[in-house]
Amino acid sequence: MAFLRRHKPAAMLILLALLVLLPLAVLAEKGYVNVSAVVLRSSASKTSAALQSLPRGTTVNITGASGDWYRVTYGKYKGYVMKRYIDKNASSSSQKTTTAKKTTTTRKTTTREEARAALLRKLNKIGKPKACAPGTSGSNVRKLQRCLQALGYYKGKIDGKYGTSTRNAVARLQRAYGLTASGVATRQAIAAMFGQKLKEDFVTERLDWFKNVYLIPKGAVFTVKDCRTGKTFQAKRWSGANHMDSMPLTKADTAVMRSLYGQWSWRRRSILVKYNGHVYAASMNGMPHGTTTIKNNGFPGHFCIHFYKSKTHGSKRVDPTHQNCVAIAMHYKW
Ligand SMILES: [Zn+2]
Repeated sequence: MAFLRRHKPAAMLILLALLVLLPLAVLAEKGYVNVSAVVLRSSASKTSAALQSLPRGTTVNITGASGDWYRVTYGKYKGYVMKRYIDKNASSSSQKTTTAKKTTTTRKTTTREEARAALLRKLNKIGKPKACAPGTSGSNVRKLQRCLQALGYYKGKIDGKYGTSTRNAVARLQRAYGLTASGVATRQAIAAMFGQKLKEDFVTERLDWFKNVYLIPKGAVFTVKDCRTGKTFQAKRWSGANHMDSMPLTKADTAVMRSLYGQWSWRRRSILVKYNGHVYAASMNGMPHGTTTIKNNGFPGHFCIHFYKSKTHGSKRVDPTHQNCVAIAMHYKW
């Protein structure tokens, strides 16, 4: 107390410094997204503009707090995320969990993919049968029976006769693949056996954006087909909450995209996006902007892909030109 009385101004200064610096020291820490995705907002309100969507495990720098929200920085962005979706200094726990989960998923996928690849090798060894109908016989039917057997749909004799048991096996396969269970070995049924889909089987779908924001997840690689020219290139989803921010996968993909535009422009083009066995009507612009996330693809930034009812970044409005392109794309098939 004597110190305080004698050196009141100095003590006050130290106290003040502590008051200012302590919270800073506490708050200048890292946070980790603990849900599948969280929206980075421009202010501490659920109705404020969405700047980015951050996937699980994303590291942000916590620079402050406001009610239920943390003020954070993420790359070039400064914004707010809800506290409950952020683990503070939990790098070891949350990230380890994420990594462990990822490893398990990858292992499962690998095993499944390996099994599928082995089966496909077996089928290719047998050879692809031609389309045929019940009542026929011969080597082609034998091939069909062997394929059905390899896939577990046929338990009868490999006798080359397209009888009831073969017909039932084909019908079971068709049912399993969501096809009409006619029992006739159509081109479509045979393609399905070999894990393929015929060009004419792809139906262009309308993707209602805000109901399916993560149908094409972040990091997903998909194929873009330009409706007017039929040219295709591969692209990867980077981020985006109002629409899908993407970038061409490689330099070669950038070159194809560039050839559609001549010179980079915001002009919208009708496109089809093919991902995971589905084709979606969409619209893109051709202007590299913002964050660059793939190195060596020759594309300085990312571009925007819009779907039905998606919105623009800044103004958060449904862009009529993009929507018009999406509507046009609905008339195209892959
Ligand atoms: Zn965008």
